[in-house]
Amino acid sequence: MTTIELNDEELEVDDDEPGYCPQCAGSGEGMYDGSKCHACHGSGVERDDSRREDYEADRADQRNDERKLAGEWE
Ligand SMILES: [Zn+2]
Repeated sequence: MTTIELNDEELEVDDDEPGYCPQCAGSGEGMYDGSKCHACHGSGVERDDSRREDYEADRADQRNDERKLAGEWE
């Protein structure tokens, strides 16, 4: 009896979590030990690609600023 109830709950949980990254099944781990999943960047949650591009563009701008400040580009 108890086992059947548990199975039903597990099935419901799976249906209710569509945001899990399909690349790593929500683990956030990449192909190698210690690496992060390239699709979700280790978050384990599926991300919108267009948003990720915006985010990475912002990060690139920040890095450029930091490198300019550090004088690496001169
Ligand atoms: Zn992932």
